[in-house]
Amino acid sequence: MVDRSADTVVIGAGVLGTSIALELARTGRDVVVLDKSGAVGHGSTSASSGIVRFHYSTYAGVALSWEAGHGWRDWAGHLGHVDPDGLAGFERTGMLVLDRIPGASDPITALFDEVGVPWEAWDADEIVTRLPHLDPGAYGPPAPVTSDAFFADAHGSLTGSFTPDAGYVADPTLAAHNLGAAAVASGATVLLHQRVVSVEEAGARRWRVTLESGDTCDADVVVNAAGPWSAQVNALAGVGADFTVTTRPMRQEVHEVAAPAGSDAVRIIVADPDLGIYSRPAGPGRLLVGGMEPECDPPEWLDDPDDVDPRPTLPVFEAQVMRAARRYPDLPVPRRPVGLAGVYDVTTDWSPVYDATDRPGFYVAIGTSGNQFKNAPVVGTVMRTLIDAVESGHDHDRDPVRLTLPRTGLEVDLSAWSRLRPVADDAPRSVLG
Ligand SMILES: Cc1cc2nc3c(=O)[nH]c(=O)nc-3n(C[C@H](O)[C@H](O)[C@H](O)COP(=O)(O)OP(=O)(O)OC[C@H]3O[C@@H](n4cnc5c(N)ncnc54)[C@H](O)[C@@H]3O)c2cc1C
Repeated sequence: MVDRSADTVVIGAGVLGTSIALELARTGRDVVVLDKSGAVGHGSTSASSGIVRFHYSTYAGVALSWEAGHGWRDWAGHLGHVDPDGLAGFERTGMLVLDRIPGASDPITALFDEVGVPWEAWDADEIVTRLPHLDPGAYGPPAPVTSDAFFADAHGSLTGSFTPDAGYVADPTLAAHNLGAAAVASGATVLLHQRVVSVEEAGARRWRVTLESGDTCDADVVVNAAGPWSAQVNALAGVGADFTVTTRPMRQEVHEVAAPAGSDAVRIIVADPDLGIYSRPAGPGRLLVGGMEPECDPPEWLDDPDDVDPRPTLPVFEAQVMRAARRYPDLPVPRRPVGLAGVYDVTTDWSPVYDATDRPGFYVAIGTSGNQFKNAPVVGTVMRTLIDAVESGHDHDRDPVRLTLPRTGLEVDLSAWSRLRPVADDAPRSVLG
């Protein structure tokens, strides 16, 4: 790359780094995106289940995901660029979130009403009518599949809330590629095989970013969009001491199995906190099964995301697929695991950090906690709005920036994703966020 300068350097060419680069380049900034891997979207984005849903525990979370859902439905319009490699497609399937305890989703459906997200309350009879292959029995709280408790009879029936507009993006890497191509078409530069090893305040520009090769790029603004490597990049820049929420990499497995034959149940996405799993369609006759951090399973924290073994393991496969077989009694359980492992960048409250920092010109879009792929169409706008305001002298810590979301007209207070937010005792502790 040799030595160069730009208005803005974005570290990370995942689905968020490319989204941010696109929105910044659209407004005339000279943007350079750096990624250590050999292709766009090859970090945690590549492992994503790509689920686009609206169940979040806060108004800001519901509003952002609802806005982003509109972006996925109009993906070509959002990009404003024809990618010759094809477009990532959004499959609208609807999603049922089962209630862990009766009434668990009431606070969330109240937020749906406030935001304007269509939803339906399903009791056990409705669940059986709509999803005849799904057993609505209450088995929770989740138990190890090696325990007697796991095999106990149902102690009741579940209810749930259904959002018809939820769905999934089958190829998350292609979505990041689309955003990267649109950013380049708007004037951004994306440079691959470029590992950032140092971020220092220096020179005529405020920041000097140094690569493993020894080349440098000077910039006024640096954005950390390094996914599960976010804490490493913050450490390079000396940022993080004042954060109230930490980010930490966590290994996660997703498995692919054959769906029950002729099943309608697998045509929609189901989140199942009662058993600690989620499932989504994965093409004809196939089902993806992932985990929801049940308390009975030890979390797999990582010191370094590069240490992750991408292969699925038998114990996690058995735990997740046997739980899925409890919910779908006709589900065939294969002998060998088929699937993948990826890494979440988990915050204390499972909500992301989209913020400036105490080092002028250094911004973060991190801590995506396994639930921010869906927000890619809007995170670029969030970060562009924040960067424009703060670079113009606005003190976002004292007087939070507010954003009117362009497609829905909803207003969100960007301090919802502040690095300095208080963490409530009852803050979310799972990927639902
Ligand atoms: C198994 C799994 C399932 C998921 N399912 C869903 C889902 O269904 N719905 C949903 O909304 N979200 C989901 N997520 C979360 C979602 O995928 C992430 O929130 C999102 O992809 C994060 O994108 P990102 O761009 O921030 O990070 P990444 O895609 O990880 O990109 C970060 C990039 O930074 C680069 N980088 C890191 N350090 C450096 C450095 N020093 N120098 C240069 N480059 C560097 C990396 O190479 C990487 O390409 C899931 C995640 C996983 C792992």
